[in-house]
Amino acid sequence: MKFNTALLHAGVNKDETNGATHTPIYQSSAFHHASAGELAKIFDNKARGFSYTRVGNPTVEAFEARITKLEGGVASIACASGMAALTNAFLNILRAGDEILSSASLYGGSIDLFRDFEAFGITTRYVHGNDFEEIENAINDRTRAIFAETIGNPKLDVTDIKALAELAHRHGLPLIIDNTVATAFLVRPIELGADIVVNSSSKYINGSSNAISGVLTDSGRFKWDPERYPQLAPYKKFGPYAYTAKLRNGFFRNTGACLAPQNAFLNMLGLETLGLRMQRQCENAMALATWIDENYPGIDVNYLGLASSPWHELAVRQLDNYFGAILTIRVGSREAAFRVIDELKLPYKLSNIGDTKTLVIHPASTIALHNTPEELEEAGVFDDLIRISVGIEDIEDIIEDFKNAFLSLE
Ligand SMILES: *Cc1c(COP(=O)(O)O)cnc(C)c1O
Repeated sequence: MKFNTALLHAGVNKDETNGATHTPIYQSSAFHHASAGELAKIFDNKARGFSYTRVGNPTVEAFEARITKLEGGVASIACASGMAALTNAFLNILRAGDEILSSASLYGGSIDLFRDFEAFGITTRYVHGNDFEEIENAINDRTRAIFAETIGNPKLDVTDIKALAELAHRHGLPLIIDNTVATAFLVRPIELGADIVVNSSSKYINGSSNAISGVLTDSGRFKWDPERYPQLAPYKKFGPYAYTAKLRNGFFRNTGACLAPQNAFLNMLGLETLGLRMQRQCENAMALATWIDENYPGIDVNYLGLASSPWHELAVRQLDNYFGAILTIRVGSREAAFRVIDELKLPYKLSNIGDTKTLVIHPASTIALHNTPEELEEAGVFDDLIRISVGIEDIEDIIEDFKNAFLSLE
């Protein structure tokens, strides 16, 4: 199945009873069974079935199955948020004393999370995502995972996933990729060698910003060495499902990170148009970036689709035909950035990406407010930078709006 077909048909449809065209919202905390023996089998992983929504739910499972197909893995676990999915992805395999090796160009929430991990003896070492010599030199006998984002935000740099996966595997380490900004529409990290893929489905997957959620997908390929990852050893018998089996029967269940069935349903609705939306949003972003670049020599435009982006060639090689729906512009000063944002009429001024509507934000005074100067530089956040998450509007209207807002720069 190709991408847009898979969005509608891949995975499971859980309404065998009545033939509804959507998997219904199974708004039930628990599931009853005919006998004590049947329930016992489900609890012992000897039979498929549902017992309690914190562990699994048919609506949530339908969403997980579709994401598994789209990302090309063997299993997925949906969580209450992208941050919950990231927390689960790491703590399923890490213990006190372990180290994460991470690209420095990260979503601010992930940097905060890694800081929280320090209280539990898990440290993070930051490197430049595509400096393979630096990464290789930073690996030590405590390193247990390598982490990067497909497209860094708001820096808009691209990780060479294939090369990074090869490096990780040479050292017996799993590569965990946050694919939120690109989505499976632009790239499937597992195809390129990644072992675990995490998506904040609050963004493009949901698409309309009506629910917070996250999902992680296991490639099923990584061979968990029982000496390095002793917690995984009892789950070896599950073969390619070892990682997922451990998570669902352990940390995920015990921390109660589950996704609500209602939100899984909203994500399934959103997923149906992910391809259409992404195509439109990427085309709109390209049109807006090109228009600003050609008409405003004083404004610095950063967009992967422009040849001026340092990551343009890698993006051409790694992404499918499009360059994402986020661009940033530098307008000279913080005051000028505030003026442009305030003059804009259509875009919402808020801290989100991936909505059907165009969104703008001044990262330095908001989402990156608590970052250190070094973190700001690594993340590509400047005082005069505006981030634009381009929506599905008629781009002529968005361009007209920016044209008017840019008058405030004169
Ligand atoms: C938003 C985001 C997250 C966190 O997701 P939530 O659903 O808000 O918890 C993680 N990574 C990236 C790249 C994001 O954009």
